[in-house]
Amino acid sequence: MPSNARPFGAALITAVVLAGPAAAQAPATAPWFGVTPPPPFAPHASPVILGQDYGPRPALIPPGEERFPELTGAAIRRDVASIIGFSMRSRESREVGDGLLWGRITGLPSGEATMDWATERLRAAGVPTVERQWFDQDEGASLWLPLAWELRIQGDAAFGPGSGDMVLESAIPANAAPMGREGLTAPLVFVGTARPAELAQIDVRGKVAVQHITPKGHLFLERGPARAKAQELIRRGAVGVINLVDQAGNMRTRDISGCGGPCFNIGGQDGRWLEEVMDAAAEAGVSDRLRVHMQLRDEQRSGMRASNVIGIVPGASDENVIINAHVDGWFDGANDNADGFAVMLALATYFARPENRPARTLVFVASAGHHTSGLSGPGHLVELNPDLIARNVLVINLEHVASRQINPARTDTDGLRDIVTDSGEGFLMNGVSNRSPALEQIIRIGGDRYGVNFVSQASTYHAGDNPQVDSPIFQLIQGNPLYHTSGDVLETISTPGLERVARFTAFFVEAVNELPRERFYPNRSNP
Ligand SMILES: [Zn+2]
Repeated sequence: MPSNARPFGAALITAVVLAGPAAAQAPATAPWFGVTPPPPFAPHASPVILGQDYGPRPALIPPGEERFPELTGAAIRRDVASIIGFSMRSRESREVGDGLLWGRITGLPSGEATMDWATERLRAAGVPTVERQWFDQDEGASLWLPLAWELRIQGDAAFGPGSGDMVLESAIPANAAPMGREGLTAPLVFVGTARPAELAQIDVRGKVAVQHITPKGHLFLERGPARAKAQELIRRGAVGVINLVDQAGNMRTRDISGCGGPCFNIGGQDGRWLEEVMDAAAEAGVSDRLRVHMQLRDEQRSGMRASNVIGIVPGASDENVIINAHVDGWFDGANDNADGFAVMLALATYFARPENRPARTLVFVASAGHHTSGLSGPGHLVELNPDLIARNVLVINLEHVASRQINPARTDTDGLRDIVTDSGEGFLMNGVSNRSPALEQIIRIGGDRYGVNFVSQASTYHAGDNPQVDSPIFQLIQGNPLYHTSGDVLETISTPGLERVARFTAFFVEAVNELPRERFYPNRSNP
């Protein structure tokens, strides 16, 4: 068990860590050099400062659009909470091993329970045709699931009397890697940001390397560099890697993976503790006594089944527009993608009303998503619906749409930079795959009308949960620093933001349906 007692405060940490080599020669007199222990891991907890005094600015509702309660932020938020409930039950029921990882996982009961609910929700909304489409996992594909694990920094009297083992509870394995039944024990070595200039000075052979990762925005963007550096550490002879993800709080981070050897990610407060202990050990001349023990039990799941749910609202023409949102998510997955999924359901409810029936047929898709290898939601949508795909003129993908804006703060807690929210939402990328001027014009007008926070540059960005189709794709997606972490929770979602996106997208669909198909294809004479 971690020792979370705090017998000595910050003053002693400062004395040990900052007083310099002369003072540090004295043996430590408190456990772990007096460094304040990290807090225990807290599930469903946001590390963001969410003040109650100044919330998100209210949604803009143009005159005449007040009716339709399904488009209000409060109504959509209730669905977001219901969707997150499936993730919470995944953890409570220990769907995955010891319950250290949870989510809405396609192929497991949490994913299917969410799809059961989506089916009922679309029927209750009055969507005339609701269809559950099942499919089997592709041959040879499997989902890796870490079931139980531990990252234990071994205690030693050289670190101060009473320095028992410290389990870093935010740790999460990054990938499958053989560690044996007994696990792996090795000395630790700190490698900074693991640039070649740093590694030229450090011998990592036989050790577990600790690399420091500072996400500068969307955590997604750290994947590639962190993976490449971890792989290089293993290539140079490290027997394992710890990726220290320097973010507020003490979150589990699912996103960094593929290290090429035994590898764990740890959260900010565990990371702060480990770095301060490694500094203190270095100054006391006992770095060689610092050792870590890693254990992991995992499995590969194959032969699974999953489903998409499709709701069809027929229009006057035989052309259709797909409105897609993926259902799967790691941890609570509030922004990824409970919010986009809930907005899709709000739109289905709105367009199912007789007075709002669309010109083109609308196909609402609760997608199995893209986390479970071999059970692709978009892939099976295309495979199972050739007629629908042939008649499709546009795809709209709603993915991570209403997180509040999350910024580094001018404050810190225990040496870790806090993050705060403000009165807006995080920016939305608004990609149109074919840069159709007609579609971009509608986006501009609608963005102003509803006060949506778009990035200032139009783009073709549509790399989300999208089917391979010939028709253009319009995607709304945020780049959230809490992506794929245990901190992606309900409290970080903006209620007016849900409403802004829902009203904007309803406007977009209605405006697009005024346009003939040719207008979507600016560069093609014969679409
Ligand atoms: Zn997503």
